[in-house]
Amino acid sequence: MANVVLQVKAFTIEEMQAYYKNSLGEKIPPGSVFTAKVAQCNITAYKSGKVLFQGANAENEAMKWSTKQDAGGTSAPKKVSVKQHSYSPPANIGQLSIIGSDEVGTGDYFGPITVAAAYVESSKIPLLKELGVRDSKNVKDPEILQIAAQLKHAVPFTLLSLDNVKYNALQSKGMSQGKIKAYLHNLALKKLIEKIQPAIADGVLIDQFAKPDVFFGYLKDQEMFQAKNIYLSTGGESIHVSVAAASIIARAAFVKKFEELSKEAGFVIPKGAGPLVDQAAAKLIQTKGIASLNTFTKQHFANTEKAKKILQKKGISY
Ligand code: MG
Repeated sequence: MANVVLQVKAFTIEEMQAYYKNSLGEKIPPGSVFTAKVAQCNITAYKSGKVLFQGANAENEAMKWSTKQDAGGTSAPKKVSVKQHSYSPPANIGQLSIIGSDEVGTGDYFGPITVAAAYVESSKIPLLKELGVRDSKNVKDPEILQIAAQLKHAVPFTLLSLDNVKYNALQSKGMSQGKIKAYLHNLALKKLIEKIQPAIADGVLIDQFAKPDVFFGYLKDQEMFQAKNIYLSTGGESIHVSVAAASIIARAAFVKKFEELSKEAGFVIPKGAGPLVDQAAAKLIQTKGIASLNTFTKQHFANTEKAKKILQKKGISY
């Protein structure tokens, strides 16, 4: 089992706690601030500023935060450093015309993986900042919807949502979630590059979720998007506003999808992959039958078995 420890500042722990708000654990071990559970990764944040990521997806999950790492902390047993690689963006990227891409929903049991790409010309950067486009982790759902509505008129974008029936089919055929994500990013980027023609972006910036060799490896059997420059970076949302724009557009679609799913279910469908999600899944099985998980959820998550256990404990057959 992979273990990654980051040393971060107190405000990053607060930011993490907000980010994982739907996946927080109920028990707080001594010395810790919070625990959270997302797909294939358990997270424990300590008052000391250490954050422990455990599980098969630990490295990817930790990578989301590695740019926030406190450079002064030397006591961490193992660190993910922000690796400079040949796809690292240049220092002036903030002033360039860039297509950014980002995804949401990968750690959520319910709802689709949603990927968006947005093209932000350098001349539009001040406008987007004016609209309040920023790291979506720091923006609450109602504001996300409001910003996204304006954003969609301000910049060209593409939006893809992979419904869970397709996701479950691909996953059960052995396709990893990383590969699925890479396919979706590639498709969203290809479509947007075509859409903005004859304009050509200075580069494409992908909010990095895998090391470059792994990312490009996922796409080796695909027709890849073509760009003047390709950049991969974690924390892309704060590197170029196009990634922040993409993340807001993707998140808004995701939030709306949850409203639809809740309507369909007849009760509020929670985000994340924590205990509330197990309860909701159990309720869904009870009311809509076990087969409904295929359309509502990413079935391979541990939540499926936990929901079944909840029902078994109550003596409810399904
Ligand atoms: Mg991302």
